[in-house]
Amino acid sequence: MNETEGGFAGIVCKDGTRVVTGDIRLTGVGLDRVQFFLFGRELDLTKIAQSEELVFETIASLIPTEITSNKVVWMSDFRANMRMVNKFGEGRVFVAGDAAHGWLGMGLDSGVQDAFNLGWKLALVEKGIANKSLLETYSAERLPVISEMLEVSHAAQDAIKV
Ligand SMILES: Cc1cc2nc3c(=O)[nH]c(=O)nc-3n(C[C@H](O)[C@H](O)[C@H](O)COP(=O)(O)OP(=O)(O)OC[C@H]3O[C@@H](n4cnc5c(N)ncnc54)[C@H](O)[C@@H]3O)c2cc1C
Repeated sequence: MNETEGGFAGIVCKDGTRVVTGDIRLTGVGLDRVQFFLFGRELDLTKIAQSEELVFETIASLIPTEITSNKVVWMSDFRANMRMVNKFGEGRVFVAGDAAHGWLGMGLDSGVQDAFNLGWKLALVEKGIANKSLLETYSAERLPVISEMLEVSHAAQDAIKV
């Protein structure tokens, strides 16, 4: 944990799983394009990420369906690290979404919830209907939610890692 007095600090929760993701064009399953996610200790992701053929072979070996992969449209190799800020707001500055927390999944969903939590409070304070102290509840409410979401996500990620 990197605390900085009075300011925002990033907290790296966990070193995440390495993932190769991308879109492929295919025929045979009623769809012409799908996004794939490849991860797992038994896969040589460095090698797979460099070869369209290896991506096709790996996908074919993992799913019991007859498909023909035609083309990798795009592909990216990344590490799904988990991180979050130590607070969601300081004075007139607020963070939400990926600026406040990050992991592979649920970032969009939880980012929208951040914005919803903050939005109506900003509107009431701006209109003079609520006291400024209402804005302090944004950080107080979102920190535990995001922290728990990341913990649950990490447990789920560990459970599906093979
Ligand atoms: C492979 C993958 C799969 C995912 N799957 C899911 C999922 O299933 N469900 C889910 O809920 N989430 C998922 N996510 C996460 C989700 O995509 C992100 O959490 C979400 O898009 C973050 O939205 P955001 O608006 O916070 O940030 P961003 O989408 O990153 O938006 C930030 C914007 O700010 C702009 N910007 C940056 N710097 C500046 C600057 N200096 N000035 C002006 N503009 C700037 C950027 O260009 C960008 O447009 C996934 C992410 C990945 C990578």
